[in-house]
Amino acid sequence: MSLIVQKYGGSSVADAESIKRVAKRIVETRKAGNEVVVVVSAMGDTTDELMDLANEVVPMPSGRELDMLLTAGERISMALLAMAIKGLGVEARSYTGSQAGMLTDAQHGSARIVDVTPGRVRAALDSGAVAIVAGFQGFNRGTGDITTLGRGGSDTTAVALAAALDADVCEIYTDVDGVFTTDPRMVPAARKIDTITSEEMLELAAAGAKVLYIRAVEYARRHGVTLHVRSSFNNNEGTLVINPADGESNVEEPLIAGVAADLSQAKITVVGVPDIPGKAAQIFTTVARAGANIDMIVQNVSAAATGRTDISFTLPKTDGPGTIAALEAARADIAFETLQYDDQIGKLSLVGAGMRTNAGVSAQLFTALFEAGINIEMISTSEIRISVVTRADTIAAAVRVVHTAFGLDSEEKAVVHGGTGR
Ligand code: ASP
Ligand code: MG
Repeated sequence: MSLIVQKYGGSSVADAESIKRVAKRIVETRKAGNEVVVVVSAMGDTTDELMDLANEVVPMPSGRELDMLLTAGERISMALLAMAIKGLGVEARSYTGSQAGMLTDAQHGSARIVDVTPGRVRAALDSGAVAIVAGFQGFNRGTGDITTLGRGGSDTTAVALAAALDADVCEIYTDVDGVFTTDPRMVPAARKIDTITSEEMLELAAAGAKVLYIRAVEYARRHGVTLHVRSSFNNNEGTLVINPADGESNVEEPLIAGVAADLSQAKITVVGVPDIPGKAAQIFTTVARAGANIDMIVQNVSAAATGRTDISFTLPKTDGPGTIAALEAARADIAFETLQYDDQIGKLSLVGAGMRTNAGVSAQLFTALFEAGINIEMISTSEIRISVVTRADTIAAAVRVVHTAFGLDSEEKAVVHGGTGR
């Protein structure tokens, strides 16, 4: 008997019909002799709609109340799903995050899991029932309050439960057939990946691939959980995200795993920074205090005549206004001249473990972009990733040419089954 954790995203449980379809699939898995724990997201775009509603009521909703509101989304889907499964004659019980033992810190809106005590889930399984757990939510013991793990947090719930219950596999059901070499919504020639290492998946997720959330991949990597990303709309094998350190794979790694695009970033340039020791430290201390998660940093050569330089960095657009305000407030102290804010950038990242041992990848990437007439504004690299910043309106074309240049195009057209991509 295997213990399988299945996570269904919002697009897989968007309406009553979908919930019944998913229930059937869960029942089949149970009847095949497996123990099944299901983690479910809110139906369709419910979370976004609740968020819009909150913002209509007040511009800056309180974190505690926002978490109360948003967690209602997952309670709706978990209860409906449990009803549907019982309707098919199989015992099922739903649990909120707190009932399922998802203990977190007290950070509303982006709580971290500190412990998982799934006693009630284990007991439900022991009694032969399917356990349904509301994704994306937890409970803080200190405050006694309900928390959320941040957008897309249901993946993390599923992985954390899989680790705590020592599950055989954590299946992440979504509206595409698995992890693709790039976003199939953007590039129909995207190819499904059969197996990818968690290291590559982590880089792709960090670079903007939306199929899995980075925290979930991190958690899976740290706890040795094998993920199977697959479609809830068919029975095709999806993508296995493996941890080769566990001896799961000894195949030679392909050069390139995939290409990711990220349109959620902005660029801040601090213009006219005195080129003396300590200025970068001051700037990035200010930025860190503003809570911004920065990505690329570029410092230009200083102009000899002025002894000043420009420093640019990228950050999530959502961190933009707060960071600009914090830097503005520190302007006299740091003694820079002006700030520029640019939210019309796009970032393309090429990821592949095989890059580590192959020198020509950057040249091939830059050549492909040059031939398509696309200008590169910033470059950064890690051991298994190269990222470039371009204008936002050229990013789709850039992804297409790079995907082709590295021989990733598939003959078949990728199928996207549902979801609004919101
Ligand atoms: N419903 C939450 C969201 O949309 C959590 C999730 O879907 O994973 O962000
Ligand atoms: Mg969702």
